[in-house]
Amino acid sequence: MRLANLAGRSTIVTDEGLIDVATSSNGAFSASVDKCVGQIDKLRVWFSAAQPNPSDSTPPDALYGDPRLGPVVTVPQQIFAVGLNYRHHAEEMGLDLPTQPMIFTKFVSSLCGPNDEVPIPSATTDFEAELVVVLGTKARNLAVDDALSAVAGYCVGQDFSERTLQMRGPSAQFSLGKSFRNFSPIGPWLTTTDDVAFPNSLAITCSVSGTEYQNSTTSDMVFSVAEVVSYLSSIVELRPGDLIFTGSPHGVGQGHTPPVFLKPGDRVVTEIERLGRIENVTV
Ligand code: ZN
Repeated sequence: MRLANLAGRSTIVTDEGLIDVATSSNGAFSASVDKCVGQIDKLRVWFSAAQPNPSDSTPPDALYGDPRLGPVVTVPQQIFAVGLNYRHHAEEMGLDLPTQPMIFTKFVSSLCGPNDEVPIPSATTDFEAELVVVLGTKARNLAVDDALSAVAGYCVGQDFSERTLQMRGPSAQFSLGKSFRNFSPIGPWLTTTDDVAFPNSLAITCSVSGTEYQNSTTSDMVFSVAEVVSYLSSIVELRPGDLIFTGSPHGVGQGHTPPVFLKPGDRVVTEIERLGRIENVTV
């Protein structure tokens, strides 16, 4: 099942068209995507039992680039991100592979819709295609084998990064450098876990103004999705709607010689197999 935030209303996206969740369920489920994400298993059961008819025949592909799409979680309590979580990306940055997940935050105010414009604050602003995990339940101390049971689903995300601020000072400033306005788009919708049995076997790409710079697979992750969720839950309490940006594969702008940084007017297209595509124009 694919759950989108379309013009502020929770909407199920099917191959046959769109289903407004609150209207079709006679109010049993909320128009708020945040509430629906917290009830994702119940929503899935209702959807497969009720088999509601789409209210129009818009196919999923027609929503790519649509500015009406918002983030499928609008007020996560926590956003985590993993640094250096792809083997080939660590190599291109000239860094050793981490021995445990390297975690920072992207502050919540940087979250935006999948197709929103992204203001470029400097000449050293970079792109990072990422698989984003959306938590569905409260959880602590999850074993690796149980970790995916706390996951509601997955989205495509961009971890836009201002490299100068990120690396400034004796202790790096990852969280600030990755939290400028609209630096955390997610979407185009949440795809539930039953449709993504193996989150670590998905093709992931990113192009900038028509040139493909990143082309990899989530199987290159140093720490799998389950290992990252389990590790985080050993320290902090995970909450429904929390987001985890799981790291970016090789090919980010800084990894090229000379570096490829974003300039106003670039179209950044990020795509993950089975999850869809998001499109952000820089301004
Ligand atoms: Zn990243």
